[in-house]
Amino acid sequence: MHIFGKRQVVHCSVCGKELGRHKYRPSEEWGIEGMLCGLCHLEKTKEFTLEQKEVPDICAFCKKELADNQDRYKPRWQWEMESGTLLCKSCYQKKDADYNKKLNFCAICNCKLGMFHYHPKPAWQIDGNLCRKCWDRQNNKNNTNGER
Ligand SMILES: [Zn+2]
Ligand SMILES: [Zn+2]
Ligand SMILES: [Zn+2]
Repeated sequence: MHIFGKRQVVHCSVCGKELGRHKYRPSEEWGIEGMLCGLCHLEKTKEFTLEQKEVPDICAFCKKELADNQDRYKPRWQWEMESGTLLCKSCYQKKDADYNKKLNFCAICNCKLGMFHYHPKPAWQIDGNLCRKCWDRQNNKNNTNGER
């Protein structure tokens, strides 16, 4: 066997093909040492760009994958959901209806609230609004229970 000069033969780190003048440095995030042939470099590039795109957005309620833009809704800020949360159309509409119901109906007796509604005290741990009657009743109940 003859060795001519100091020519070092480099092989592609993926397929092992001997590399001539055309060799490609892998991107750092690929975690590959050494050099690649053109074909493997192209393949890896594709692989990694695809991977990054493939994390699907899912609905925060039903966990459905939100594939197309028609079915992707941002929750209203009033709903106090995490930023970046997305909902599918049906969950959005359901939540919207729930929220409106909560705003417009008494959380205890379910009567329709008009112009006047009352915010429950935080200590009552009631979600929604109350009518005057229920607010008073709740207030009295808590006072007689010795909440002092
Ligand atoms: Zn290769
Ligand atoms: Zn959903
Ligand atoms: Zn009520």
